[in-house]
Amino acid sequence: MKESNCIFCKIVAGELPSNQVYQDDQVIVFKDINPKAPVHLLMVPREHIISLNELQSQHDSLIAHCLRLLPQLAKQQGLNNGFRTVINTGAGGGQIVFHLHIHLLGGIVIFTHRCT
Ligand code: 5GP
Ligand code: ZN
Repeated sequence: MKESNCIFCKIVAGELPSNQVYQDDQVIVFKDINPKAPVHLLMVPREHIISLNELQSQHDSLIAHCLRLLPQLAKQQGLNNGFRTVINTGAGGGQIVFHLHIHLLGGIVIFTHRCT
């Protein structure tokens, strides 16, 4: 399950430090080392899943768990006016760490892309 060269697997295993804000049996959540907003968290499944491309039906409850946890964490972080989530997939999608993670961002209006 653990990938020996994966930085997020090492954080999950406690082999590398992180500024953790939440953990349970399925995920850990810690502060991004290079924050792009006043609040910038990374939600990381404990299981080494490379990206959205590798998700299978066995992961359905994990993904539901992650999505339902996000607003709770946002509230805990004081993001009462909304928040942004980002999942980069593959090199072409800007993914740098190849262990699935969800960015949770908020705190100021930083967003240039709008679909309106
Ligand atoms: P990606 O582009 O893969 O979606 O984003 C990876 C994120 O992980 C980046 O925002 C980067 O700042 C963050 N990151 C990379 N290495 C570390 C680390 O060792 N610790 C923490 N806390 N964040 C990291
Ligand atoms: Zn990993």
